[in-house]
Amino acid sequence: MPVPTQASDDAFAEVKAKVDLVKVVSEHVRLTKRNRDLWGLCPFHQEDSPSFKVNPQMQSWYCFGCERSGDVFTFVELIEKTDKRGALQMLAERAGVELKKLSPEQKERADVRKRVLDMLKLAAQYYEYVLWKMPAGESGRKLLESRHVSEETARKFQLGYAPAGRGFAEYLRAKKRSLADAQEAGLMRRDGTDFFAERLVIPIRDERGQPLAFTARTVRQDEQRKYINSPETPAYIKGRVIFGLDLARDEIARQGHAVLMEGQFDVITGHQFGVTNAVASSGTALTDEQVRLLKRFTDELLLVFDADRAGRDAARKAAVTAAQHGMRTRLATVPEGKDPDEFLRAGGAEALARWKELVERAPSAIDAVIEWLAAGLNPSNPNQLEAVGGQVREYIRQFPPTLHETYAELAERKTGISRHLLLNDPEPAARVKPGTNGSGARAPRPAGKKMTPSRYLVQLLAVRPVALEQLRSKITADELDEDDRGIFVRMLGSYERGGAGGLEADLNGYPPEEQDLIRRAWAAPPPNVDDEVAVELAQRIRLEHMKGMHGGIIRELSEAERGRDTERVARLESQARELGRAITDMERRG
Ligand SMILES: [Zn+2]
Repeated sequence: MPVPTQASDDAFAEVKAKVDLVKVVSEHVRLTKRNRDLWGLCPFHQEDSPSFKVNPQMQSWYCFGCERSGDVFTFVELIEKTDKRGALQMLAERAGVELKKLSPEQKERADVRKRVLDMLKLAAQYYEYVLWKMPAGESGRKLLESRHVSEETARKFQLGYAPAGRGFAEYLRAKKRSLADAQEAGLMRRDGTDFFAERLVIPIRDERGQPLAFTARTVRQDEQRKYINSPETPAYIKGRVIFGLDLARDEIARQGHAVLMEGQFDVITGHQFGVTNAVASSGTALTDEQVRLLKRFTDELLLVFDADRAGRDAARKAAVTAAQHGMRTRLATVPEGKDPDEFLRAGGAEALARWKELVERAPSAIDAVIEWLAAGLNPSNPNQLEAVGGQVREYIRQFPPTLHETYAELAERKTGISRHLLLNDPEPAARVKPGTNGSGARAPRPAGKKMTPSRYLVQLLAVRPVALEQLRSKITADELDEDDRGIFVRMLGSYERGGAGGLEADLNGYPPEEQDLIRRAWAAPPPNVDDEVAVELAQRIRLEHMKGMHGGIIRELSEAERGRDTERVARLESQARELGRAITDMERRG
């Protein structure tokens, strides 16, 4: 079988010229002609009406539903769950294109790669042999024993041991093999010493089980570098391989999710204890290529990272990368700050059952990240609230736009911060409509009524419904400025009926000027919207209201005195005294 090792541009162009995208797609999708294009139900997402379009002239396709697009190669990649090279191979066979027709340089590169791959295979066999059959392998065996890795598991992963000195070079000489290839494969230094000497070696294999590189752990106490990895070679590019995928792929497809762990040893222990859908991203943060590779087998990733800061950062990033390729992520946290490796070994016979519990409880990654960000949040501290709100907004923004709304809603439920604050950056949103302000600077406060405590409170309630709980006993509508009473009562009603989302649901039924006020508050919320501010505003409003009432009584009093209405004077005097005392009290407390 011709292996198109170096997928050349020539080969792609030649194949593309010979196959018709419409024919290829028609084998999977029923296409109907509309104008110049052909339309059908998208094979990559669920739909009832066609949004999948093929353009025969351009030989391109596009789905308006899931927004996937591409040419004949990407179509075959997705539909056959293969990679670019696999798609080339399939289509080349179909078109009768011989892929071996490579330019001399391409042929040379392909040959080197093939020799390197052969060499890596041979090295893995040699190391494995040393580990189990040679006295030199003892320190490797001891290391495995201390990690409780059984021989059966070790052999599944083809673990090996690289002895001190020039063992592999001598082995190659005896087999009359080229040392240069071994150097090219990153296995040997120029002087013939083994690159991985005195280390337990772990082959990093592709999804078909071909070793592409090694990672190696020292067995020496005095060695500073615990792990070293193969350099990049013609066969190995960092960030394109998923460790353990060759062993886990079937189980991943069967269980519907892949377990992504941090370390190779976590994965090895995982498989030993029955977590046979475990893989690791191996030496890098999760890359786009790795997600694409995993996506061929599942749509869901279960992330298991260390509970430390580095682990959390890695998990946060991985969730975003996965989402960009339409993958869901959940996050399992191993209790008591253990590695998955430690957790499983401590579980003994119950390890798998305890693992399954952990998986069932695992929240979505976005859930978990918001929880971290909001941990220890004091909702009455405006600075904290603003900082957390900013962080959540920043995180949500990294995800594909279609997820923003849902995530903001979720974050609102968890933090009490309004989803509008979490969706919109107050600054750019506050910019005025084009034409009204040429400078493009931040918009001034909306014209009209100047900001009073009463108006502030209305805006605060618009962006932060939960503040209502604090306010119930502290303010009534008739204490607000007259202009704000109507909107206040309407908002209370909306929240009463529809909860936090009630205002949004009812807004279109509000008088236009009230809609406008609320929308402006959403776009450019007041500086602080925490409970403390809400309560303080309510007190100030109540105090102002009482002072206003007090003034009214005094005016009435002088009128009563003029009319010599002694009874009325006495009553008003007592009212004024009472109110005056309350005002003094409140001022003293505030
Ligand atoms: Zn689609």
